[in-house]
Amino acid sequence: MRTVLITGASSGIGQACATVLAADSNYRLLLCARRLQRLEELKESLLEQHPSCEIFCFELDVRDRASVEQTFANLPDDWNNIDVLINNAGLSQGLNAIQEGDTGDWDRMIDTNVKGLLYVTKYAEPLMRSSENAHIVNIGSIAGKEVYPNGNVYCATKHAVDALTKAMRIDLLEKGIRVSSIDPGMVETEFSEVRFKGDKELAKNVYKGLTPLSGTDIAEIIAFILSRPAHVNINDLLVMPTAQA
Ligand code: NDP
Repeated sequence: MRTVLITGASSGIGQACATVLAADSNYRLLLCARRLQRLEELKESLLEQHPSCEIFCFELDVRDRASVEQTFANLPDDWNNIDVLINNAGLSQGLNAIQEGDTGDWDRMIDTNVKGLLYVTKYAEPLMRSSENAHIVNIGSIAGKEVYPNGNVYCATKHAVDALTKAMRIDLLEKGIRVSSIDPGMVETEFSEVRFKGDKELAKNVYKGLTPLSGTDIAEIIAFILSRPAHVNINDLLVMPTAQA
């Protein structure tokens, strides 16, 4: 039985990971995000479908270093051994040229996507058993491989995730922790709504003319990555909607 910690499990890809892994009796789930109510609703619905699945939810803002440290130091005894960490919490805000950028948006993206991922990894890693099941999966992005118009700071944060995945792989080798990243193209989640600050019309337009990936598409690939034998590490997977250029 592997205990999986998923950050940003209250919507989108994180929620889909919880849903896919809850259906597999090899996993028990630690779910966190800022919106605890959403996590509790998700837990309730997953337990209706999979009554024997063990799930523990807690509130966490990955940007708050002290709170991340405290939270992982004080997990209940039966939840303080983690096998798999899925570093998923992240966001994009604003889509402007640098000279028109909002520095608040920059801070939110850097604090969440880069520093948040680092804090969670630093404070959760000591709870990871050195075992063939130990695995960290970082959610990167096509934006970590390329730079697109007005994507500047978001692309920079995902390039940082790409570098950190490679660095973690080297650093955690001695503990036997596998490290992978998955880099999606467009996935239909709440991501676009957050990017356009609640403007649903702008958010919907993003997917015009193509079928985007779903959270489940990504979650199923993560389940595949986790299911490989101990000697196989999928370092990095770029996954695009077929019609996305
Ligand atoms: P969603 O907006 O649907 O989900 C984002 C999740 O991150 C939410 O559960 C949110 O929870 C959580 N989150 C955001 N900020 C924080 C924070 N400060 N502390 C804790 N949790 C936080 O978007 P996606 O599911 O699409 O995004 C998931 C990941 O996938 C992100 O890293 C994103 O960059 C990446 N990605 C997304 C793509 C897409 O097209 N959708 C493409 C490529 C990568 P809450 O608000 O409750 O805290």
